[in-house]
Amino acid sequence: MTPLEFDQKHLWHPYTNVEKPGPTFIAKEAEGVWITLDDGTRLIDAMSSWWCMLHGHRNPTITQAIHDQLDRLPHVMFGGMAHDPAIELGQKLLEITPPSLQRIFYCDSGSVSVEVAMKMAVQYQHAVGHPGRSQFVTTRSGYHGDTWKAMSVCDPVTGMHHLFQGALSIQHFVPQPPIAIDQEWPEDPALNGIAELRAVLEEYHKQIAAFILEPVVQGTGGMYFYHPEYLNQARALCDEFGVLLIFDEIATGFGRTGRLFATDHTDIEPDILCMGKALTGGHISFATTMTNDRVAQGIGNGEPGVFMHGPTFMANPLACVAAKASLDLLDQTDWQANVTRIETALNEQLAAARDLPNVADVRVLGAIGVIEMDHRVSADQAHALAHDMGVFLRPFGHNIYCMPPFITSDDELSAICDGMLRLAREL
Ligand SMILES: *Cc1c(COP(=O)(O)O)cnc(C)c1O
Repeated sequence: MTPLEFDQKHLWHPYTNVEKPGPTFIAKEAEGVWITLDDGTRLIDAMSSWWCMLHGHRNPTITQAIHDQLDRLPHVMFGGMAHDPAIELGQKLLEITPPSLQRIFYCDSGSVSVEVAMKMAVQYQHAVGHPGRSQFVTTRSGYHGDTWKAMSVCDPVTGMHHLFQGALSIQHFVPQPPIAIDQEWPEDPALNGIAELRAVLEEYHKQIAAFILEPVVQGTGGMYFYHPEYLNQARALCDEFGVLLIFDEIATGFGRTGRLFATDHTDIEPDILCMGKALTGGHISFATTMTNDRVAQGIGNGEPGVFMHGPTFMANPLACVAAKASLDLLDQTDWQANVTRIETALNEQLAAARDLPNVADVRVLGAIGVIEMDHRVSADQAHALAHDMGVFLRPFGHNIYCMPPFITSDDELSAICDGMLRLAREL
């Protein structure tokens, strides 16, 4: 049996048919934007390996930080212990996130950080005398992860809620925010989506702990960029109805949208903020959930006082130093200029797709480029075709998209755009 045959027979891959897995290539090593396969083929990682490889693969500063920490303290339990990597990362996070978010919970992955956020909201409401507030409101077309509670607030259609009926918590859905980021914001609540949000909160607020959503960019649920004013007004409604506001910045954090956080496109601050994906520059799994004093003190002063969560690998030192190194790199490099450069190139080069017959829309925000087709695109066909062009692309649903590492050169960006345009022409 070849290694690849073993893989196909025994290993699950994400969202893949175990009996009929699509084209799969064996990656041997990677550096910068390049992934080298076992046959020597090199591919540009236009996905930043699922949106996390911010500074490119195998960044020497990050790998060195992990090496050094590995020789000192690879792990220690966080119950009753603290360590410099966790403290130094915490100090850095407080510098760059909204000022009201002063309390940090470290966890293993994005989905877990969403679980933690939702649990915080329910436990807070319980602690302050609202035990009935245990449900959530969210927008359609959202995505928050694959664990149960996170899944319950994913889009009911693309998240296949019918498949899990009876197993998923029932939540409240409002329409996708209807005004796109580049449209003029209409003040009429009947047009801008705020009327529907108000209606749900008016009717159900006594059962709702929090409003959870991805600020400005809906990722997996449709690669859609909406108007930040929606979030300013949602904040006011949440306050009016005693509902917490949770921002899931797992996809948008660390510069991807052109601001350090998507929250920075708004005038407000959430009560709880989830981060993951690019937190360690993609080098090791890690996530955080940050909250404000109000939520933390509410939980701390209530019953049972302790917050009921504590992963085995909480605040893993290797992950903490990787995250700290990645954030320092962001400081030291002109990431904003790079994102602007990428945004300009994507805008210029993807525009050609507008004239293709089956293209519904082309949109770019920061270092995210999307060609939306009028039909579903086969990820397998796209993967094989892009591989032949030396690019790693994995569309989902109707969207052929890229999220390149910030270090991607102009020539590499052109190769990515050529690949995307070919997929849009041929698939
Ligand atoms: C990827 C993602 C998650 C889930 O993160 P995992 O690390 O895959 O568990 C949650 N929310 C958003 C917005 C994401 O993009």
